[in-house]
Amino acid sequence: MDFTIDIYKKLILALKKEGYNFQTFAEFMKAPMDKSVILRHDVDKRPKNSALFAHIQKEFNIKGTYYFRCVPESYDEQIIRTISKMNHEIGYHYEEMDLCNGDIHAAIKLFEKNLKTLRNICPIETICMHGSPRSKYDNKSIWSNNKYTDYEIIGEPYFDLNFNNVGYLTDTGRTWDGARFSVRDKVVTNISLNVKSTQELIHNLHKNSLPKQLMLTFHPQRWTSNFAFWTQELILQNLKNIVKRYIVGKS
Ligand SMILES: [Zn+2]
Repeated sequence: MDFTIDIYKKLILALKKEGYNFQTFAEFMKAPMDKSVILRHDVDKRPKNSALFAHIQKEFNIKGTYYFRCVPESYDEQIIRTISKMNHEIGYHYEEMDLCNGDIHAAIKLFEKNLKTLRNICPIETICMHGSPRSKYDNKSIWSNNKYTDYEIIGEPYFDLNFNNVGYLTDTGRTWDGARFSVRDKVVTNISLNVKSTQELIHNLHKNSLPKQLMLTFHPQRWTSNFAFWTQELILQNLKNIVKRYIVGKS
C-alpha cells in the first residue's frame, strides 16, 4: 500500500540517511545547500492532513514549506498559525487568474488583498501557483504584467528553480511521475526520474541515483493511514486521471 503515513515516515528516514538537508523553499532561495531537499506541500484542501505532516516533520526535526490557498477548503487560520510556529515555512498558493476569470487587473488587486490576509498571520516570503486542471487560466500568467518581487516575494518555484539541476517529483495523481497526468503541474526539465511508487523512490535514494537537489511536492489530502478512506481516495484519483488524460490529450 502506498501514500500512507507509514511509508511517508520511511521516505523521510531514507532522505535523512542519505544525507539530504531539509530546507524550506525560502531558505533554498537564499542559500541553497549542495545536498538539499525541499518538501513542498500544496494544501489544496483538508488542511488537517497538512497539520499532520507538519507534526511528523517536527518529530523528525525537519522543515517543510506549506502553500495555503485563500479559499475555505484550504485556509484555516489556526492551522496556518500552528504550522508556522513549528518553524515550517508558510507560502501562498495563489490562483487569482482563476478566481477573477482572467481579469489581470482584478487578479492583482485580489492577490494583494489575499497576501495581506496571510501576512496578518505569519511571514510570507514565497508563493507557488495553484493549478486547477479544469481551469481555462494559467495562474502564472498574472506575472506577465506584474512582478512578485514588488510584493517582497523572493521566489516562485515555477519561475525560480532550474529543474535541470533540481530534480522534481510530485505525487499528483497518486504516483510520483504524476506530471504525466498533470495539465498544469509541469516543469521544463531534461532529468528523467521515472519513479512511480514511494517504495521505488526510497530504493533510488539508497542507490544514489537521484539528483543532489530535490523538490518533492506533496498533496497531503491524498495521504492517509486510514484504509477505507485511502481506498475511496484511490478510486476518486483514478477517475480524475482518466478525466485529466482526456483533457491533456485534447490540448
Ligand atoms: Zn494546488
